[in-house]
Amino acid sequence: MKISVFGLGYVGCVSAACLAGRGHQVIGVDVNPVKVGLVRGGRAPVVEERIGELTEQVVRSGALRATDDVAEAIAHSEISLICVGTPSAPNGSLSTAYLERVTEQIGAALKDKVDRHTVVFRSTMLPGTCLELLVPILEKASGLTAGVGFGVAVNPEFLREGTSVKDFFEPPKTVIGEIDPPSGDAVAALYEGLPGDVFRVPIPVAEMAKYADNAFHGLKIGFANELGAICHALGLDSHRVMDVFLADRKLNISPAYLRPGFAFGGSCLPKDLRGLVHAAHRADVSVPILAHVLPSNEEHLRRAFELVARTGKRKVGLFGLSFKPGTDDLRESPLVELAERLLGKGYDLRIYDANVSLSRLMGANREYIESRLPHLGQLLAGSVAEVLEHADVCLVGSTDPSVLGALPHGGKHILIDLVRLPDADVRRTEQGYVGL
Ligand code: NAD
Repeated sequence: MKISVFGLGYVGCVSAACLAGRGHQVIGVDVNPVKVGLVRGGRAPVVEERIGELTEQVVRSGALRATDDVAEAIAHSEISLICVGTPSAPNGSLSTAYLERVTEQIGAALKDKVDRHTVVFRSTMLPGTCLELLVPILEKASGLTAGVGFGVAVNPEFLREGTSVKDFFEPPKTVIGEIDPPSGDAVAALYEGLPGDVFRVPIPVAEMAKYADNAFHGLKIGFANELGAICHALGLDSHRVMDVFLADRKLNISPAYLRPGFAFGGSCLPKDLRGLVHAAHRADVSVPILAHVLPSNEEHLRRAFELVARTGKRKVGLFGLSFKPGTDDLRESPLVELAERLLGKGYDLRIYDANVSLSRLMGANREYIESRLPHLGQLLAGSVAEVLEHADVCLVGSTDPSVLGALPHGGKHILIDLVRLPDADVRRTEQGYVGL
């Protein structure tokens, strides 16, 4: 199929490269010239396992190209996947500004389309957004009627950063919300042959299904981390406890998101929990459990800061900065938040994160760091050794092998384990070890 992908961020560039890898002809569109330039040069604009090689391969074969020209992309494709960001607005609600803008541009380009084109929203958005907000924009800009002049579908993305290429080819499920059967058929054809159940559902059900996932992930992480904190206080290995809990086949609980570790973050769980709770309150629905997932998460951050303060030392090394290993994504990273609190209290900080340094060198997140985190960008070290040389206290914020393998055995450092290493790994790190 001929496909346009709008937004070459974490979701868009992975979708574009993977679809091109499956033999489709893909045009990636982004307003950010750095991302368009990177893809044109065969380089992925994000750090992710396998995405670099895959992008290079599909760009070289001509299956993927990039542009900033919306009209040209629409003219040369039969289906568009919209993967632009939907960040939190200041009041916690979901911002649809990027979605509205790209939808209007696509609508205008549809005017000149002779063949039926299907517009597919992959961005996470609250129920009602597609039919009540975006379809009217498309209809107004194109002068056409949805379901007649063009198709519309919602196809939420369930990938996890760090393993997104693998998740694309082995999706847990495929959810297709469709305005009419031909729209759903067009989406289903994109993924034909991939494993996992396919759910063809009304559009608002597809929109809400993504929130069910992210709210439950946040709840599971909060649950595992609170148990982890209690276990630590009682001198127990929380991983042993969770191994027993998860082994109960009758409960059939997936271990995903149930391993005690640090606070969660990233561009999805916090903003989607916030957006869902905001929507519930607007609808006068009281949701005490969901409303307390983010405050529970915040507790782990507060506890981490307290542990550093209690050491009485001022020279701190932080290992890890992105929101989890395997990605360079810094959005709503709890480690960024912790670093800022430490800086705010005058700690002398150095940071090491291999993925963040790599992507900064490529120019992919240089602008993000320079515009939003210049105070942290200048503290990024080039190696683990550089941080160890500087610090008295080392915060282990990542389970990346490049960090865990290089941690000192004893010596002058106090190691503060933010990731709740299992007991077996803790012994490796020896004296001066403090758990969360
Ligand atoms: P992102 O910020 O990494 O990427 C969005 C891209 O869209 C940016 O490159 C931006 O320049 C581009 N863009 C903005 N306006 C545009 C326009 N008018 N035309 C073309 N491009 C435009 O965002 P992301 O992390 O890829 O997330 C995208 C959506 O997918 C969000 O709704 C998110 O909630 C959802 N999602 C994200 C993940 C994830 O793990 N990151 C997983 C599932 C779903």
